[in-house]
Amino acid sequence: MKNFYITTPIYYPSANLHIGHAYCTTIADAIARYKRLAGYEVFFLTGSDEHGQKIQRSAQAQNKTPLEYVDPIVDNFKELWKKFHISNDDFIRTSEPRHEKVVQEIFRRIRDNGDIYKGEYTGLYCTPCESYWTELQLDENGCCPDCHRPVEKVSEEAYFFKLSKYADALLKHIEDNPEFIVPTSRRNEMIQFIKRGLEDLCISRTSFDWGIPVPDDERHVIYVWFDAVINYITPLINSNKMEKFWPADIHLVGKEIVRFHTIIWPAMLMAANLPLPKQIYGHGWLVTDGDKMSKSKGNVVDPVALVEEFGADAIRYFLLREITLGLDGNFSRDALIQRINADLANDLGNLLHRTLNMIGKFQKKILLPANDLTDLDKSFRAEAVDTAKEFRRLMDSVQLSDAVKIVWKFIGRANKYIDETMPWKLAKDESQRQELANVLYNLAESLRIVSILISPFMPSTALKIREQLKVSAEFKLDDAEIFGQLESNHEVGKPEQLFPRILVDK
Ligand SMILES: [Zn+2]
Repeated sequence: MKNFYITTPIYYPSANLHIGHAYCTTIADAIARYKRLAGYEVFFLTGSDEHGQKIQRSAQAQNKTPLEYVDPIVDNFKELWKKFHISNDDFIRTSEPRHEKVVQEIFRRIRDNGDIYKGEYTGLYCTPCESYWTELQLDENGCCPDCHRPVEKVSEEAYFFKLSKYADALLKHIEDNPEFIVPTSRRNEMIQFIKRGLEDLCISRTSFDWGIPVPDDERHVIYVWFDAVINYITPLINSNKMEKFWPADIHLVGKEIVRFHTIIWPAMLMAANLPLPKQIYGHGWLVTDGDKMSKSKGNVVDPVALVEEFGADAIRYFLLREITLGLDGNFSRDALIQRINADLANDLGNLLHRTLNMIGKFQKKILLPANDLTDLDKSFRAEAVDTAKEFRRLMDSVQLSDAVKIVWKFIGRANKYIDETMPWKLAKDESQRQELANVLYNLAESLRIVSILISPFMPSTALKIREQLKVSAEFKLDDAEIFGQLESNHEVGKPEQLFPRILVDK
């Protein structure tokens, strides 16, 4: 069996979950579900990134330990993923002992290879905030960007990773492997970044202690990014699955963290003598009516409220259809409602409802054998199979939005097939019984195929369609490419509404 490994970033446990978290995880979930459908053994990882000074300080402000502070936030993440039908195979928390063990192991390995050394870190320090800043991060008065008080230059002993040593090897790898960083715009940015020169990276701190201790020198904790990226191999090392799933097929990340994943992480892997991931995919941001979501702007869309109002599948459909992977996308409530009404309630919902209704009314819910197909019937069948094949091609090249669109194009075709063949007229004419049976069979069979193709995007809707068709819950992608799998004399169920129309106040 072929293996496939996909990750989302591990998310920073901030109390304000927004639809952007759900967007990234939904993309990864759709890809993971598609690969399983296509016959791969899949490992899909997500998790939470819990260390660092910011978390420690937020916890202190609430008189909590860091773990007491993050536990409920991480529970909310897990709860949200359940609500969104996310099918992750593991959830990694960087505060887990299994992770600490692996981070220390990798630190040791890189240190033993001579790529970690002790030096002195000099930085601009804001004492009230306990934060280091760089020249560039300071506010317009040269003060702390958080509290706007003066900063001072301080030095502390620290460990450094020889990132500079890997600049040439990284550049060569990126240039030799066009698929390593996607999309190309991100790839070009990283090439320019490396060409400007890489400095060694400070990878330990002594000014706080919420982190993983440096092995054999516990006054230091390991820098949060060095710790965080190692999460991608922790579950594999702990379960002896490195050989099976590493290197990862896709690290899916937001564009703002592409640099950590395409420069620091690969350099660390080179230093630890491990293979590099096959692809880092930098997706765009979700904006709300054209504006980047942020707490201060008050335009954060709460995914929990959204899923409770509209259901996970409708939101998943909207995100995956509306946003071209790699580009920024717009989230708007109005556009979501329009999609639900037009595409889900009307196009898909009506197709299922009309089909089952007619099979019930004209053939007592029984599918009769198809025979003597007309040219129209034959071309409709061919279109169903072509759609499934094109769907496979698009999904294999991670063109999710286009894949959704061709399925809906076929759904539109199926609705038109009903209008063209007019089964209600055929039913009135005894000599047209065979043609009626053909049309109804073709419609039911095309719905079976649609249920397979939408299953990576809308898993619970796919199951509802199959329940109403009374067919097996288990299909593979191959089953969408062969028309005619429904048995004749199969009895279908009765139609039930898939998506209620949403009334909009004017
Ligand atoms: Zn400050």
